[in-house]
Amino acid sequence: MNFALPEEILEFKANVKSFVKSVILPSAEERDLHGIWDPSLWKKMGEMGLLGLSIPEEYGGQGASCLMTTVAHEAFAEGSCDGGLTLALGAHAIIGTMPIVFCGTEAQKRKYLPKLATGEYISGLGLTEPGSGSDAAGSMETRAVKKGDKYVLNGTKMFITNGPIGDVFIVMAVTDKSKGAMGISVFIVEKGYKGFKVGKKLNKMGMRTSLTSELIFEDMEVPEENRLEKENSGFVRIGRATLEWERTVLVAASIGSMQNMIDSGVLYAKQRKQFGEPLIKFQAIQDKIARSRMKLDAARLLIYKSAVKKDQGLPAPIESSIAKVYATEASNEVAYDMGQIFGGYAFIHEFPIERAYRDTRLGTIGAGTSEVMRSIIAANT
Ligand SMILES: Cc1cc2nc3c(=O)[nH]c(=O)nc-3n(C[C@H](O)[C@H](O)[C@H](O)COP(=O)(O)OP(=O)(O)OC[C@H]3O[C@@H](n4cnc5c(N)ncnc54)[C@H](O)[C@@H]3O)c2cc1C
Repeated sequence: MNFALPEEILEFKANVKSFVKSVILPSAEERDLHGIWDPSLWKKMGEMGLLGLSIPEEYGGQGASCLMTTVAHEAFAEGSCDGGLTLALGAHAIIGTMPIVFCGTEAQKRKYLPKLATGEYISGLGLTEPGSGSDAAGSMETRAVKKGDKYVLNGTKMFITNGPIGDVFIVMAVTDKSKGAMGISVFIVEKGYKGFKVGKKLNKMGMRTSLTSELIFEDMEVPEENRLEKENSGFVRIGRATLEWERTVLVAASIGSMQNMIDSGVLYAKQRKQFGEPLIKFQAIQDKIARSRMKLDAARLLIYKSAVKKDQGLPAPIESSIAKVYATEASNEVAYDMGQIFGGYAFIHEFPIERAYRDTRLGTIGAGTSEVMRSIIAANT
């Protein structure tokens, strides 16, 4: 066992952090306040190679490992203090792209991956629906009916990250209701298809620098060649592999954010004086810092362990679920404790801890709730 990250990953982490600090962080507060999506930042992220990190080099990406990609997302969140843009990156680069990397035909890879790698195409995943979240497979209403060499899709997807700005979506739909989770197929859907509509932009509490909406399909025709893998193999084969990456790479944003919150909390505690002493001298403040640091270290190890298992080509349902539930709950606790150190200033927009507090809240809900993660862990124990 070796707990040290390889030199090349450490170097890349430092580069990503420095890039986001100079390019993303300066406008984060303003974009958060007004819910602004800034395409010029996306372009720069593409030029930096961040949008196609785990796409193989032959298709225009960087061919990075799961661990390298995980650390890059951690560094992005840590340096940018921009949970929304980190989420948009994850929705594009992981859940909106990796299904094509894992399961695409050669033609699908050649058609989509190079444009996803540069960011010319923005992608996302359409799984959740207005009536189906945790029970995504069992309650799915979106139907895909085969007609000749096309599928006709009808249904609505809810809470789709990158919905209003996406060009390509990985969409799950029922093709055989009688088979339950085994009767779901996955399609690559382009925004230009007839019958594709973007619903209204959702006005969110946090992650406001990413855009989220419903996607509505009304007799939308999808060519058969855009189905990923065999009919009915969607949820189990494609869904599970993708969700394990999501619960590792996207969740790494929570450790980056925790690091940022702790660093800024410690700095503030050293500078702010009350009762003639810096806050850091008070034992109650030290306790918050120590507990937060312990949670961060534990969460980081759990996430890296899950990433290494993916790089070994092994399934990681328990590891990714444990990492997800622990890291996201820990980051909410850290946001609370570090916010407490800032006192009244934690309530004011100009202080990044206020934004981090709101952004962090999504962690235990998105990508499978804490309750669902616990049931996966229990069922596999
Ligand atoms: C900002 C944002 C971005 C998102 N991005 C995407 C995206 O890009 N693509 C996508 O497909 N989805 C996305 N989602 C959806 C997200 O994954 C779902 O919100 C999440 O899976 C929970 O589903 P739900 O909201 O329908 O809650 P529900 O499933 O209705 O759950 C409500 C509550 O009941 C609990 N619960 C449900 N079932 C059980 C059970 N069996 N045992 C115990 N408790 C249970 C849940 O844990 C939760 O506490 C996004 C959501 C948000 C808010």
